[in-house]
Amino acid sequence: MTILLLILAGFIPMTGNPPGLDYGTAPESANYASGIPVITYHQISLHQSAYSATPARLRDDLQKLYDAGFFLILPTDIENGLRRVPMNRRPIMITFDDGWEDNFRYIDLPDGEQSIDPDCAVAIVNSFIEEHPDFGPGVVFFISWDKIPFGSHTEEKLNSVLDMGHYIGNHSADHLAFTKLPPSRYWEQVLPALDSFHRRLGLRTSEINVVAYPGGQIPRGVNAENALAAMEYQGRPAVVQGYLVDGAVGNFKRIYETEGSEYRISRIDMALYSVPRLLNWSNIMVESNARASLHDDLPWRPTYSD
Ligand SMILES: [Zn+2]
Repeated sequence: MTILLLILAGFIPMTGNPPGLDYGTAPESANYASGIPVITYHQISLHQSAYSATPARLRDDLQKLYDAGFFLILPTDIENGLRRVPMNRRPIMITFDDGWEDNFRYIDLPDGEQSIDPDCAVAIVNSFIEEHPDFGPGVVFFISWDKIPFGSHTEEKLNSVLDMGHYIGNHSADHLAFTKLPPSRYWEQVLPALDSFHRRLGLRTSEINVVAYPGGQIPRGVNAENALAAMEYQGRPAVVQGYLVDGAVGNFKRIYETEGSEYRISRIDMALYSVPRLLNWSNIMVESNARASLHDDLPWRPTYSD
């Protein structure tokens, strides 16, 4: 822990709190492979830190995931029963937590114009999707309001993220761990954040209804799920899904069949995991037919059974 703190003090230029790293490693067992990886990154930076990945690493991860037959899904796809996922592909969700400036940065050009830094997260993802349009629609940015989201130009950047086809999630007002709050006070972290979104996004805030818990956890046995399910914002549910960081690939059969499971969707932190390690996960949707040539469909297929 001391080492971690020293690393943080030395290498992370930040104005907010660092995200927590505290989770287990065991995958859930399932009677068939229904695991959908939800992976998370924080900072995308050349500065090495406990939470960062370099731009080159992100590009390489995207390529490896694409080559392994994954298709990008968004939280709405979970609501929709994954109907947009082609049958020869397997789903994955990519998320970026906190809203760091290196997730969406403008740089000044010599002519005085501004352009998007090609090494920031959103530019790297956009350029990969442009080159590989069959990879899927986009990624999720979970924004917390304990600092200025994306460092500057927040309103413009949040709207741009939606224009580009990506998804915005709620990562709380103050980045306060839900494990430190009774469920009766969760709203203090959820609703003011929605107000902040609403001031920048107006009606588009109605689509912000998923939460990534700061610190990656919510407690068990205290009806946390009920508190989240009951919360409303402007007459609609404030939270329809909740995302942990627990170092697991969630069993999606359970998500669809067990009420409340949508508030405990597993994620793995790519600062601690690699794509090759992810591909070894036992519950990830499995390979079907061999791929005879590069022009054949990708060989992955969800295995549905009763
Ligand atoms: Zn965070």
